[in-house]
Amino acid sequence: MENYDKNCIFCKIANHEIKSNVIYEDDDVMAFLDISQVTYGHTLVICKKHYDNFLTCPKEIMNKMFNLAQRIGQVAIHDLHALGVNILTNCYEAAGQTVNHFHIHVIPRYKNKEGFEITMKENDQNLNLPAIAETLTNSLK
Ligand code: AMP
Ligand code: ZN
Repeated sequence: MENYDKNCIFCKIANHEIKSNVIYEDDDVMAFLDISQVTYGHTLVICKKHYDNFLTCPKEIMNKMFNLAQRIGQVAIHDLHALGVNILTNCYEAAGQTVNHFHIHVIPRYKNKEGFEITMKENDQNLNLPAIAETLTNSLK
């Protein structure tokens, strides 16, 4: 199999060497329940080929993954009766990535503050926002 990492648990899931609770798959992408359900229906969308994360994945694959994440989010609202959904993808260890195979979390939310919360602990109000924006604007040129 192309782009297969023998040490990667999600490559093994994609290849059906490890069992998971699959809810969708085709040639390029797959969705299965997160083994540790943050909320009811917490799902992971992965690419079948191994790419480390969102930042290193080809756009075509990324688009397929987000299309599927959107569909699962819609289903969570309509059929699981979630009130909201968090779409989350961690890139690198510093951001909380523990499995280095690109995956998108689809986390249905049922009531305020259930499950998890993302907070900025170091919220420095004295940051120079125009200077930050200028740096990033120049980087995007
Ligand atoms: P992250 O912290 O963004 O890298 O998320 C990795 C996620 O993979 C965690 O939420 C784990 O619960 C989940 N996970 C790890 N191993 C398995 C597995 N064998 N089947 C399903 N989910 C898994
Ligand atoms: Zn992998």
